[in-house]
Amino acid sequence: PPLHGSAVRDAFLSFFRDRHGHRLVPSASVRPRGDPSLLFVNAGMNQFKPIFLGTVDPRSEMAGFRRVANSQKCVRAGGRHNDLEDVGRDLSHHTFFEMLGNWAFGDEYFKEEACGMAWELLTQVYGIPKDRLWVSYFGGDSKAGLDPDLESRDIWLSLGVPASRVLSFGSQENFWEMGDTGPCGPCTEIHYDLAGGMGAPQLVELWNLVFMQHNREADGSLQPLPQRHVDTGMGLERLVAVLQGRRSTYDTDLFSPLLNAIHKGCGVPPYSGRIGAADEGHIDTAYRVVADHIRTLSVCIADGVTPGMSGAPLVLRRILRRAVRFSTEILQAPPGFLGSLVPVVVEMLGATYPELQKNSSQIASLVSEDEAAFLASLQRGRRIIDRTLRHLGPSDLFPAEVAWTLSLSGNLGLPLDLVELMLEEKGVKLDSAGLERLAQEEAQHRAQQAEPVQEERLRLDVHALGELQRRGVPPTDDSPKYNYSLQ
Ligand code: ATP
Ligand code: MG
Ligand code: MG
Ligand code: MG
Repeated sequence: PPLHGSAVRDAFLSFFRDRHGHRLVPSASVRPRGDPSLLFVNAGMNQFKPIFLGTVDPRSEMAGFRRVANSQKCVRAGGRHNDLEDVGRDLSHHTFFEMLGNWAFGDEYFKEEACGMAWELLTQVYGIPKDRLWVSYFGGDSKAGLDPDLESRDIWLSLGVPASRVLSFGSQENFWEMGDTGPCGPCTEIHYDLAGGMGAPQLVELWNLVFMQHNREADGSLQPLPQRHVDTGMGLERLVAVLQGRRSTYDTDLFSPLLNAIHKGCGVPPYSGRIGAADEGHIDTAYRVVADHIRTLSVCIADGVTPGMSGAPLVLRRILRRAVRFSTEILQAPPGFLGSLVPVVVEMLGATYPELQKNSSQIASLVSEDEAAFLASLQRGRRIIDRTLRHLGPSDLFPAEVAWTLSLSGNLGLPLDLVELMLEEKGVKLDSAGLERLAQEEAQHRAQQAEPVQEERLRLDVHALGELQRRGVPPTDDSPKYNYSLQ
């Protein structure tokens, strides 16, 4: 029988501890500690950045780290690694996910051992058929003066991977960077073929093995690190899907309790895994968005990031509001529904991440309060719209100034695409040109005043304008990324 999600996590950790002498370290908080280059912790390596940079306090415990492994809570919403827009639209990207990782610091071991251990774990311990696995390596980047990583290629060939399944890619795919600045290096990745010989391969990326060698400086240049290190990361949810024979992370026991709870609480048909144009009424998309977002909200709030007005809190607010809209508008969730999902998340993740258990009731009440506040804003927004409409002629556009107030300054903070939707319901068109003008004026004004907080809000809302233009176009699954396509 396939392993349960938590058994898959345990098997990873005990493999590195018992077979290969790694020390297990706890997950860091998703709130980056003293690192303004990040909104959220987005990879297992973040907490080890001082080791990579050679700035670790020699008296700290970390200074003694040579081989470590862990399961890290990661959030990829905002910043360099931003997967928010993919969530719900595909079957493999989450805003919160668990990254399983192993590290070798200061030349403790390097490429050969790292690839060997990964191959041993996947094919011998987890028993994944070798012919379903593909690998990629860094093919070099002449503009950046970086050589191809032929060493990794040869290691895979010597492990028995046929040359036809060893692919090379450029910096975009196979040079890993944590943010706009910070440690980075060439990487080699392991992919799983969902098609399994039936037609064209459909690859899902499983595991990234990064060979940390450089630091990206603020001026964009690459500086060598004092030592070389191995840094790996594999998404637990994707691994569990593969081991449970599923095409989707949502069709695993890491998500099914949440999807069941949504079904029970909302009275919509059960989750059926439809995607893209096949998902009429966007019901399954809404299931995915809500299940994903409530995990992210719970984990972030447990770590002290609460929905707010700028930076990570603003991103979290956006996530909360998205969850509210998808649950109330598409799934017909009753008021207070989101908060009721928190115990389900805590039940699943609390044993691994005890801070969830400790703060369980506070998380649920905060989610409920914010949900209620947002629903109230929506209601106030509708009233303002109605009042404005009374003074409009039949062919008038909805004034940009009022839309602006609803979206930004009037404390309502409704996402622009939502305002547009509410107007659409009333059969009136927004003065988008006027709104864009306002946005530009406001941006100029803010730039002069140099208020980074406000700029961040503006950037997100201008981004929402882009979403607006895309509205009406059904989500597609023909992702531009080479490595994932699903039917
Ligand atoms: P992708 O190309 O699929 O977006 P990535 O290259 O951005 O993944 P890495 O930064 O290499 O991902 O992270 C290491 C691993 O973490 C990936 O191989 C994948 O298994 C997992 N992972 C990355 N992003 C996500 C996500 N948004 N949700 C779930 N798992 C993820
Ligand atoms: Mg990605
Ligand atoms: Mg990738
Ligand atoms: Mg990758």
